[in-house]
Amino acid sequence: MRIGIIGGGQLGQMLGFAGKELGLECEFLDPSPTAPAADAGPVTAAAFDDEGAIRALAGRVDVLTYEFENVPVPSLEAAAGDTPVYPPLGALASAQDRLYEKQLFESLDIPLPGWHAVDAREDLDAAAGKLGFPMVLKTRRLGYDGKGQFVIRDAGDLDSAWSTLGGTPLIAEAWVPFDYEVSAIAARSVDGTIEHYPLTNNVHGGGILRYSRSPVADPALDTLAREAIGKLLDRLDYVGVLALELFVHDGGLLANEFAPRVHNSGHWTIEGAETSQFANHLLTVSGQAPRSGAAVGHAGMLNLIGEIPDSARTLDIAGARLHDYGKSPREGRKLGHITVVADTALRRDEQLRTIGQTVTGSTPDFGTAE
Ligand code: AMP
Repeated sequence: MRIGIIGGGQLGQMLGFAGKELGLECEFLDPSPTAPAADAGPVTAAAFDDEGAIRALAGRVDVLTYEFENVPVPSLEAAAGDTPVYPPLGALASAQDRLYEKQLFESLDIPLPGWHAVDAREDLDAAAGKLGFPMVLKTRRLGYDGKGQFVIRDAGDLDSAWSTLGGTPLIAEAWVPFDYEVSAIAARSVDGTIEHYPLTNNVHGGGILRYSRSPVADPALDTLAREAIGKLLDRLDYVGVLALELFVHDGGLLANEFAPRVHNSGHWTIEGAETSQFANHLLTVSGQAPRSGAAVGHAGMLNLIGEIPDSARTLDIAGARLHDYGKSPREGRKLGHITVVADTALRRDEQLRTIGQTVTGSTPDFGTAE
C-alpha cells in the first residue's frame, strides 16, 4: 500500500516513520525538497497548488492524504482523479474557513464561544455590541499559531484592529476566560469505527502550543469531548485522525477549532499511547481499522520553538525522549519536541517542569496536578 502525503513538515516526517513500522510506503509533496519528511520517504518538490505534480503523485499511490491544512481544495480535488483523498475534502474546506467551521459546530449543537462575521468596519461595531469586550478578531482563512489575530480590549482598540486586519473576511469571537485548554483527538475508519485518545491538556504561549499533558483526569469532560468529536466525525463522514481544540469553561467545553489531520497536541501518543496518532491516521486512510489509543502512562510534551538548546540533547531524565525535526532554527518555528511518560501525573508534571526550566529557562505553571 502506497500513501501520498501532501505536505512534508514534521507531521509528514512522523507519519513517514510510522508508515515504515506498519509496512506502508509514504511519499510526499512539499515546496521544499529538503523538508523534514525527506528523512522518511521520497519528496516531490512542488507547490501545493501544482495540479500536474499532485496528479502525478495521485497516479503513483493508492490513497492521498495531507498533513498541511492550507492546501487549495479545488486543486487537490481536480488533481486527485479517481484516487481517494482522506480525510474527505469537505472536512478540509470547513476547517479552512472559521465561518464554515462555526456554522458546522452550531449545526451539531456543539457549544462554542459567541461570534459575529465581520466584513466591513460597521460589522465590528455590531460585533462589539453583541459580544462585549474583550473580544478577539481573527481572519477567517489562513490563520495558524495565533497569526492573523487581534485581541480587542475596549472600544479604543476597534480602529487599530480594523486597520491591522480589515480588508479580508474576518470573524469576531467573545474572549473566553477559560480554565484551561484541551484537545480531543480521534481516528475514524472508512466503515465508521471511531477510536478515541484520552483528552489532552494544552498550554499555549503567544498563540503557539508550548506544553501538552494527557490523560486529563476528568471523566465528565472526557465524555463531553467524545460526544462532540464523535458528532463531527460522523457528520463529515470522516476518515483519518481529527483534532478538536476546546476551551474548558464553567465546567463545560466550548469548541475553538478543529484540524483535519494529525496534531501537535497528539505528539505524546508516539510514546504515551498504545498506538500513535500517526499510525492510526495511516491505518484508517489506508482502509484499515484504528488500533487502541489507550494511554500507557501519564505523558507530557514540551515543544522546542526557535532553537534546540544543547541542554535539550543532554537531558538526563528517565523516560524523556527528544524528537529533532532537522529544521533550521528560526524565531517562532517548531523545531522539535520532548516527550516524557511517567507512572503518575504528579511525577510527569515534575519532570516536565524540570525539562521546561532546563531547556527554556522558565518553569511552566500547571496549577494543581491532575
Ligand atoms: P486559535 O488560532 O484560534 O487556535 O487561537 C490560538 C490561541 O489563542 C488559542 O489556543 C487560545 O489560547 C487563544 N484564543 C483564541 N481564541 C480565543 C478566545 N475566543 N478566547 C480566549 N482565548 C482564545
